[in-house]
Amino acid sequence: MATNTYVKRALEEAKKRNPGEPEFLQALEEVLESLSPVFDQHPEYEAAALLERMLEPERLVSFRVTWEDDAGKVHVNRGYRVQYNSAIGPYKGGLRFHPTVNTSVLKFLGFEQCFKNSLTGLPMGGGKGGADFDPKGKSDREVMRFCQSFMTELSRHIGQFTDVPAGDIGVGGREVGYMYGQYRRLTNQSVGVLTGKGLSFGGSLTRTEATGYGACYFAQEMLAEKGTDFNGKVVAISGSGNVAVFAGEKATQLGAKVVTLSDSNGYIYDANGVDLELVKDIKFNKRGRISEYVERYLEAEYHEGKRPWGVSCDIAMACATQNELDLEDAKMLTANGCRFVVEGANMPTTLEATRYFLENGVYFAPGKAANAGGVACSGLEMTQNSMRLNWSFEEVDVKLQGIMKKIYQQAKSAATQYSENADDLVSGANIAGFVKIADAMLAQGLY
Ligand code: NDP
Repeated sequence: MATNTYVKRALEEAKKRNPGEPEFLQALEEVLESLSPVFDQHPEYEAAALLERMLEPERLVSFRVTWEDDAGKVHVNRGYRVQYNSAIGPYKGGLRFHPTVNTSVLKFLGFEQCFKNSLTGLPMGGGKGGADFDPKGKSDREVMRFCQSFMTELSRHIGQFTDVPAGDIGVGGREVGYMYGQYRRLTNQSVGVLTGKGLSFGGSLTRTEATGYGACYFAQEMLAEKGTDFNGKVVAISGSGNVAVFAGEKATQLGAKVVTLSDSNGYIYDANGVDLELVKDIKFNKRGRISEYVERYLEAEYHEGKRPWGVSCDIAMACATQNELDLEDAKMLTANGCRFVVEGANMPTTLEATRYFLENGVYFAPGKAANAGGVACSGLEMTQNSMRLNWSFEEVDVKLQGIMKKIYQQAKSAATQYSENADDLVSGANIAGFVKIADAMLAQGLY
């Protein structure tokens, strides 16, 4: 609960101004809960109405996306870009293509992105975008036509020094490639306007792995703090997309055993450790379902319609989507011996579940800190594009490790300074991310 009266008032106002936007309000509540001690010490922030300004996106565009399917039928989807805050650099944040995309989801993601980008230490503001388009079941040509139509409108709002989108759920290398091609045709410019590009046209090595690997590098710091490491640990992971698979890969490389992965239909449990190469083939090459895993490994289990949080594990990594781990799940995980929870996805843990972990001695890593490796690597892709250089996998990976370590240190140090619980990395990450943006906004005058 926020204790500072200004923070409480700002949250109440935000609730009135944003009715019917539950995901956005949930994200605001989680962040604002942490900020009371900062506002107690900095009355100048209130005098400049900093909270009201930070809660309101600088710009939100919504547009029609018309495209034609393979049978010649015309479809209309809704596209968006939320340009949240550019105080510390160009807007930066992914594009999500999923039927659940709406302004509430994108404002929550854009708001969180501002803090995450601030934590990376790189000059990137926050933004997010996407469309209520579902790439599942669509042919490559249909996806291409959708991406081209989407970019035809988006192109007028973005630019290498203005706003640099990337991928997110439903937007991987294929979609980024189609969108980048369309931007290039429209503007006649080969510039780093999107990240997550293919390696032959300006992409960065390590970008594909960065979010999942980064989450593990962050977890390594947490484990070290408690005098342990990944070696021999049992890890439960949700999701089977980009973040989940590469979190699993790094955890395995570090000596852990990954026993679960999931998708929106159910989860697999493999007591021998999940074969991640098989999962990559099913999900990335064949665009199949995680259930197909048990056709190859007959001793593994598939649990239709269930989430993996009932299994016994040392470390849980939530890498699928928002609100996929609730209070009941948190209780089960804790009762089954889980001591570390890492958010690879954005806000996968409900507020109640987060509070439960914090109050029950589970060391908890919030997404805006733990999954910042993806956007950090995107920042490094922008740097390489500006320099017209390509760094090696090792060079980028070493930089990524350094950034994740610094993010952990900032979050830990702010938690130690401002929170009663020095392990409260939720407050720590919120505060450390916030202060940098707040000071940049103060320095730049009213806007
Ligand atoms: P992908 O599209 O590659 O994978 C998403 C995974 O989550 C899939 O396995 C998908 O299953 C599953 N999923 C989606 N919706 C649901 C649902 N409602 N219930 C259960 N499972 C679901 O996305 P990413 O791996 O890129 O992203 C995962 C999360 O990480 C998101 O929250 C994203 O915002 C966040 N993130 C991603 C970054 C990146 O670099 N990619 C960077 C930072 C954060 P299915 O196949 O059934 O849809």
